[in-house]
Amino acid sequence: TATQDLLLSRIRDVPDYPKPGVMFKDITPLLADPVAFTALTDALAELCVRCDATKIVGLEARGFILAAPVAVRAGLGFIPVRKAGKLPGATLKQAYELEYGTAEIEIHAEDLVDGDRVIVIDDVLATGGTAEASLELIRRAGAQVAGVAVLMELGFLGGRARLEPALRGAPLEAL
Ligand code: 5GP
Repeated sequence: TATQDLLLSRIRDVPDYPKPGVMFKDITPLLADPVAFTALTDALAELCVRCDATKIVGLEARGFILAAPVAVRAGLGFIPVRKAGKLPGATLKQAYELEYGTAEIEIHAEDLVDGDRVIVIDDVLATGGTAEASLELIRRAGAQVAGVAVLMELGFLGGRARLEPALRGAPLEAL
């Protein structure tokens, strides 16, 4: 579509970042273009409505930038999932595997209530590890998973297959 062409045209390939051999997808040109950023916000907000979400989880850090305006546009609450040690209140923690070692993310569990349907928003789905761990947190907090929405999916990394069991039939949408 024309929107997809616009979004794609504002994503910059940065070779060898953050390490040699990696082609990093840089979304800062998209954020700097108000027409593209608005189109992205609108498209993500539409996905939130379509999957009947009641809350939006954004994944640190670029997921925050996208999820916050989407939450305002869709009229839904925003909940941050942060790297361990950054949230001040009582949290649930979830560890997940990285290429080397493990990482840990956290959520303020009290921000979710029974009956909430949560959509997870991030910029890029790579291996799917971060998104998978966030779905675990949402369920442990007593809420349902409404879906996962990302700007871009790096298909060759197999994130969709890794995420599939944790989705339990909920949609994974990549714009
Ligand atoms: P995963 O857990 O799916 O391997 O990694 C996803 C996380 O890493 C996301 O939060 C995403 O922001 C970040 N990430 C991985 N690769 C890229 C990339 O090429 N571009 C951007 N913008 N983020 C990336």
